[in-house]
Amino acid sequence: MHIFVTGGAGYIGSICSESLIDHGHTVTIFDNLTEGHRAALDPRAKFVQGDLNLRDDIFPALAAAKPDAVMHFAANALVGESMTNPSKYYRNNVGGGINLLDAMIEAGVKKFIFSSTCATYGVPEKIPMDERLPQKPINPYGHSKLIFEQILQWYDKIHGLVHTNLRYFNAAGASVRFGEDHRIETHLIPNVLKVALGQKEKVEIYGDKYATPDGTCVRDYIHILDLAEAHMLALGRTTSASYNLGSGEGFSVRQVIDIARKVSGAAIPVIVQPPRVGDPPRLVASSHKITSELGWRPKHPRLQPIIESAWAWHKAHPHGYGD
Ligand code: UDP
Repeated sequence: MHIFVTGGAGYIGSICSESLIDHGHTVTIFDNLTEGHRAALDPRAKFVQGDLNLRDDIFPALAAAKPDAVMHFAANALVGESMTNPSKYYRNNVGGGINLLDAMIEAGVKKFIFSSTCATYGVPEKIPMDERLPQKPINPYGHSKLIFEQILQWYDKIHGLVHTNLRYFNAAGASVRFGEDHRIETHLIPNVLKVALGQKEKVEIYGDKYATPDGTCVRDYIHILDLAEAHMLALGRTTSASYNLGSGEGFSVRQVIDIARKVSGAAIPVIVQPPRVGDPPRLVASSHKITSELGWRPKHPRLQPIIESAWAWHKAHPHGYGD
């Protein structure tokens, strides 16, 4: 199939593009390169530089590509930043996304895979989290993604847009070629590995008084290659659906740091800081639905190999993509 990938120069988009091409698909990447990196573009993909907020960028790009499906990764995705700059999240994640949907309708493209998030649930009523839980986000990032899921329902009813919402838990790890490099790094695993590389003095632990076994937040880390696999399976769907995507096991911030110590052999000193606003204490997925309906199963469910793959990439690219 020919897939139009927005945000294909970013962390998740670059590795999904690589997997798509490795599996015989053709890829056109659309990215404005504000968060993404030119060096993260798979050279086998066609690249169009453009901005989703500009209808004059996205409409001609999509009309020229005439893809079979769109995978939409381009978005702002930082919980903390969304609590200080909500406008950016609504403009880019909702406004930019609507331009993309309108361009699809005009070009007659009816299949859409959406990078949604477990942050649409807010603080879950039960763990592990399945898709029937109420979606009550506690930060503008999660809210912007929930609004977009709701918009998609109407575009399906009105325009027949078949969409799959993939609600990611914590994407982690790397492929051999592509990895995680954000210009401002806020994510746990890359920050821990920066300390292991000697580029940062200490890992800041955001809060250790949560109601969790060791007091630090618990998250479900999913290997980026397993995430990519789920996107390819979603291409086969002919009706709309939503799926949670995680490995199904929770790890605390302190457990992540301990595994990174083992993998890197570095001491990795820590300092406890106040909790980060907008962080739910525990997020762990039930991926039962996507397993039973699409046959998805994580090939890399254990956290240590996930961190090993990230460590290999960070050691080979100590300054990320270098831009
Ligand atoms: N975290 C931390 N120190 C860091 C970065 C993150 O303690 O330097 C915590 C954060 O509060 C959250 C977990 O690690 O509980 C995962 O955060 P991340 O930003 O990686 O992903 P999120 O769950 O926010 O999408």
